[in-house]
Amino acid sequence: MTPIRKLLIANRGEIAVRIIRTCRQIGIATVAVYSDADVTAPHVRAADETVHLGAATAKESYLNSTRIIEAAQKTKADAIHSGYGFLSENAEFAEACAQVGITFIGPSPQAIRQMGLKIAGRKIAAEAGVPTVPGYNGDDQSNAALREHMLSIGFPVLIKASAGGGGKGMRVVRSEREMDDAIDGARREAEKSFGDGALLLEKYIEHARHVEIQILGDAHGNLVHLFERDCSLQRRHQKIIEESPSPAVNAELRARMGAAAVSIGNALQYTNAGTVEFILAPNGEFYFIEVNTRLQVEHPVTEMITGLDLVKLQIEIAEGKPLPFAQADLQTNGHAIEARLYAEDPNNDFLPATGTIHDWFLPEGLDGLRIDAGVEQGSVIGINYDPMLAKLIAHAATRDEAIRKLGYALKSLSIQGVTTNQEFLARLLGQAEFGNGNAHTSFIAEHLAELTNTEDVELDRASLVAAALYWQKSWQSSDALMTHLPPSYRNNPYRNPSLNLQLGKQEAFVSWRHVAGDHFEVTALDATAQAQLLAFDSGYLRLVIDGVQRSFRLTEIGEQLYVHSSLGSRTITRLPRHPEVQAAAEQGSMTSPMPGLVAKILVAVGQPVKAGDPLLILEAMKMEQTMRAAVDGIVETIRVAEGEVVGPGAMLITLASPQS
Ligand code: ADP
Repeated sequence: MTPIRKLLIANRGEIAVRIIRTCRQIGIATVAVYSDADVTAPHVRAADETVHLGAATAKESYLNSTRIIEAAQKTKADAIHSGYGFLSENAEFAEACAQVGITFIGPSPQAIRQMGLKIAGRKIAAEAGVPTVPGYNGDDQSNAALREHMLSIGFPVLIKASAGGGGKGMRVVRSEREMDDAIDGARREAEKSFGDGALLLEKYIEHARHVEIQILGDAHGNLVHLFERDCSLQRRHQKIIEESPSPAVNAELRARMGAAAVSIGNALQYTNAGTVEFILAPNGEFYFIEVNTRLQVEHPVTEMITGLDLVKLQIEIAEGKPLPFAQADLQTNGHAIEARLYAEDPNNDFLPATGTIHDWFLPEGLDGLRIDAGVEQGSVIGINYDPMLAKLIAHAATRDEAIRKLGYALKSLSIQGVTTNQEFLARLLGQAEFGNGNAHTSFIAEHLAELTNTEDVELDRASLVAAALYWQKSWQSSDALMTHLPPSYRNNPYRNPSLNLQLGKQEAFVSWRHVAGDHFEVTALDATAQAQLLAFDSGYLRLVIDGVQRSFRLTEIGEQLYVHSSLGSRTITRLPRHPEVQAAAEQGSMTSPMPGLVAKILVAVGQPVKAGDPLLILEAMKMEQTMRAAVDGIVETIRVAEGEVVGPGAMLITLASPQS
């Protein structure tokens, strides 16, 4: 036994935070490492000690094995957990740890190496008597040989990079004419991404499911499986929703797939946590595709249905402890489903997005919901690392309940400032066919139009109403310089206040009228809503819109207002109504930003004023607001009298420019 007292986590984001959480629970001290981009990241603050690695690029930080081992030595860490990605499946790194007497939490370097190449994996699986997808994994890598094998496998064929991962270097080939381009493209991508251009071919199984088996082996020859995870919902061959149990796996199939995974594990003398991945064809046949020799992103799903802590078990196995259970002791409870929240744009081919997270909020009280997040309010999402922000995992007695819970959680989460797949995920979970358990790996591609359709007029209208009243209230309550008023918030005394806004791709003109008390009439997107403003606090509104009361979270950053309610989120941008010319002309006049009482007039007609000089005091809701000049000028007219009650948008004072 080699007890672990201090553990270095060679990773970042949600997985680093998650590993630290378990360490804390079992009394293991933690060391985080970080790059220049992560100085204030949550994982850095979560750990007991932290060591800086280098510049922001992965190469100079989380992939810099020399620096990481130095950091472990400096802090006297006994072990390193590398999470997933980065160095987690790097056999040389595992060896380098062993050489300096640091425990690498994972399988042996030999097992990592053997499974690092898909070609080798296919051979081992076949030797262990586990079916692999019909295909070709030979040494002759010439285009001629690959073409010939494609023809004998029969279309469609999937080309894979032997060293591949993360769906990179994969191409589906459906006809003879596509063969050469696909081979060359896959080879180039494989060389570029993995430094190894070796390719293998597999029959592409249409409408298959991705079903994988979690395995766990100790150093004493015990090896069990922890059931399956169904990860069929993928975009670009990458998972975004995972669940367990699989709706397509019954007890008999589970036992067979579990046994197949265990026999591969045994063939590898596998220790620690690993995942054996299979393709489950529509006809019920399953085929081995690869082994991942690390903790998977989707491991929480297994944790929730088994009640086990996989990181704790990984640590105990690395310490040399035997598994605390046998296969027969293991059982599952209920259903768990995970959604991966990515900074990416589903409406733009799921390309990664960057930005700053201005709001990050989830209401409390969602029972059976787990959130593994690596971000928080203020996190900057850059280009150096994987764009996964967080995972939401719901556990319930049945699949339907788990899906409902996860869908509700996704809708309730307010994450603003970065484009994410949040709305897309919520739609996916609400999709009827998925609900019926009929998903497969091309499900998203086949339902893309429906899933990326973000039309929601009710959400649009409610968000616009909230935005209008938010601005109305914030201008009114800030001790505003005139300059706080946007040029589009205008001054025609005979018109209601209005704003020109952008919502998604559409322009939306919003106007409103103060009816009485806290009642407003707001017109947006060709409909007029009766709105009552019950509460206003910075960043928070409670509104009744046409009889339904809701809370709104509002985050204003520059011209952008992020609006979140139980209906969902919208980003609203203020547009100048009248481009520059008009704006300049209008700066000289001042309108009332709110309904109020003219408490005091501080200037007289003809008086010269400078920008920022107080002109008039308005009073509303027991608050005084000083109205100030936005520009230098001469008071031209005063349109109101002291004691007069004015509506929002009423013209108060006009200024003439000094030279006129
Ligand atoms: P990577 O290591 O890049 O993740 P995998 O071999 O694990 O590559 O495959 C990724 C995904 O590609 C699978 O989850 C599955 O959706 C799809 N896939 C892989 N092999 C096949 C196949 N033979 N037929 C159909 N789909 C496949």
